[in-house]
Amino acid sequence: MRRSALLSIALLVASTAGAQAPAAPKLSVHWEELTGPDFTTAIARAQNTCLLPIGIMEKHGPHLPIGNDLLNVRYVSLNAAQQEYAVVFPEYYFGQIFEAKHEPGTVAYSRELQLQLLQETTDEMARNGCKKVIIVNGHGGNPNLLNFFAQSQLDKAHDYVVYIEGIARSGAGEPAHKSPRAGDQHAGESETSVSMIARPDLVHLDRAKSESGADQARLKLPDGLYTGIWWYAKFPNHYAGQGEVASRELGEFETKNWIDAIVKSIRAVKADQESQRLQNEFYERSKHPLDTPVQP
Ligand SMILES: [Zn+2]
Repeated sequence: MRRSALLSIALLVASTAGAQAPAAPKLSVHWEELTGPDFTTAIARAQNTCLLPIGIMEKHGPHLPIGNDLLNVRYVSLNAAQQEYAVVFPEYYFGQIFEAKHEPGTVAYSRELQLQLLQETTDEMARNGCKKVIIVNGHGGNPNLLNFFAQSQLDKAHDYVVYIEGIARSGAGEPAHKSPRAGDQHAGESETSVSMIARPDLVHLDRAKSESGADQARLKLPDGLYTGIWWYAKFPNHYAGQGEVASRELGEFETKNWIDAIVKSIRAVKADQESQRLQNEFYERSKHPLDTPVQP
């Protein structure tokens, strides 16, 4: 009896332990690393929210890699998605970069293809359950393209919402910069500092002074008058700033700031049910605008 009582207790303990809910399986945030069955679980866990980090292939001064913007935007997006779960689309670098066609390694697709590829990519993401697509931009030449792309989603009905997350590196409490803030742009102190966190092995600080990152101010036009050659007129070396004064301290701050901004946006997007509802209302009304009621 005693033996069987002990056995019963042992069995009870074992069954109680076995009855504990199994820990939720760890799911990669990388779209391409998930199995088919895990992908379904991942989309549910992400509440249909997916990230599409977009970079570029473009010269970044004499000291940073051509894929700098892709590497950095993926670094912050993947880190953000690990904090607030979202599925991250694979490497995407098919953005706007005509102004660097004179530099080695630039990949500049036609404007038609940029828009078509982006549309088909977000369509395919949505078909796979990504009903909320956050395009996380990592390249300074993309905002006009991306904002136009988001605006053009109103042309035809879509059962998903496109959001655009910009570059958000600076913020309150930032360590002092060593170079003038106004001139610190492409491959300058700030961007180079972030690269020192994302991919320090690809940063060649010792080469940063071998080219000029100064504004060459070759166009004299009034403020507010825009022309496409403006960037080339200012920074023909595809370098704007002083990368040589970059630091890990600044990089850590700016990287964290950017990751925090993405995390905040993922949370806001998960909670947002209004954008899709308004889109649906808008698409319906735009079929017969004469019947559109005046909003009270
Ligand atoms: Zn860049």
